[in-house]
Amino acid sequence: MRFDILTIFPEFFGALPNQGIVGHGVVSRALRSGLASVQIHDLRNFTHDRHRSVDDRPFGGGEGMVLKPQPIYEALNSLHLLPRPQRPGAGETVILLSAQGKRFNQSTARRLATLHRAVFLCGRYEGVDERVAELLCDEELSIGDYVLSGGELAAAVLLDATVRLLPGALGHADSSRYESFGEGETTSSETPPAAPVDAVASPADDAAGREADPEPRPAVPRSTHASSGILDYPHYTRPAKFLGLTVPEVLSSGDHLAIRRWRRQAALAKTLANRPDLLQTAELSDDDRKYLAGLGYTPPA
Ligand code: SAM
Repeated sequence: MRFDILTIFPEFFGALPNQGIVGHGVVSRALRSGLASVQIHDLRNFTHDRHRSVDDRPFGGGEGMVLKPQPIYEALNSLHLLPRPQRPGAGETVILLSAQGKRFNQSTARRLATLHRAVFLCGRYEGVDERVAELLCDEELSIGDYVLSGGELAAAVLLDATVRLLPGALGHADSSRYESFGEGETTSSETPPAAPVDAVASPADDAAGREADPEPRPAVPRSTHASSGILDYPHYTRPAKFLGLTVPEVLSSGDHLAIRRWRRQAALAKTLANRPDLLQTAELSDDDRKYLAGLGYTPPA
């Protein structure tokens, strides 16, 4: 998948082999392996005045400056991206990062990961001339209900969240399925299906792109819970006791069924505590509902 990022701060995104977002972790690996490519475009290269101005005063008066449409139009033209009505568009999207956009989430990331190209336009100052959203962009996305000083951080968020969903970006295909907001199938916490047992493989299989673990890991139940729209379960590693707090005993029991059940319930409890809104749309089994009721959760009528 190809990503193009239009910005007035190209240095923000860094460079391979080890700078910024493109030089680290899963994104860096995806770029090196050819799964994805990222081109950064400096909007100032598409200006024609001595000061290379990309912004101007707002019509109607008021605070600050606004990014002008012309350099953005020319930058998109240089990428063979015509204004909207003439653009063929299949498999590609031009996204304006904006606090006024639709909220970006995991399902948007999944959709983007099916495309062959995404273009991210980073705003600055008071924002971008509205005709850019109307004529040149396919969608306007926000990464949350707060205002950033520029779209670069938001573009980095979209890039990372999308790249890790590209087939092959994470070593283990299930990694992105069985995590917070994942699409894992619902299972009953009382009668879970037999967990496929799988030794955690090479460091490249690691969802977070961590460094190599020289010790071979014991076989563990793979996909030990199903996220199905709730948050991930809590994770623990060594030491077994830390600042007086011990790892839940069940996790060292070797009983895969009990571990699966514990993880599902812990994920439900965490979702109830931190994101009860997700429970309204999550796929919940009867056992899940019973467990949540025991925690005092009553679904809204
Ligand atoms: N005047 C704008 C408003 O109130 O909505 C805020 C402009 S902000 C200071 C400058 C740029 O940061 C925006 O054009 C946009 O590209 C980016 N930005 C700010 N908040 C964002 C968010 N929550 N999500 C995505 N981009 C954001």
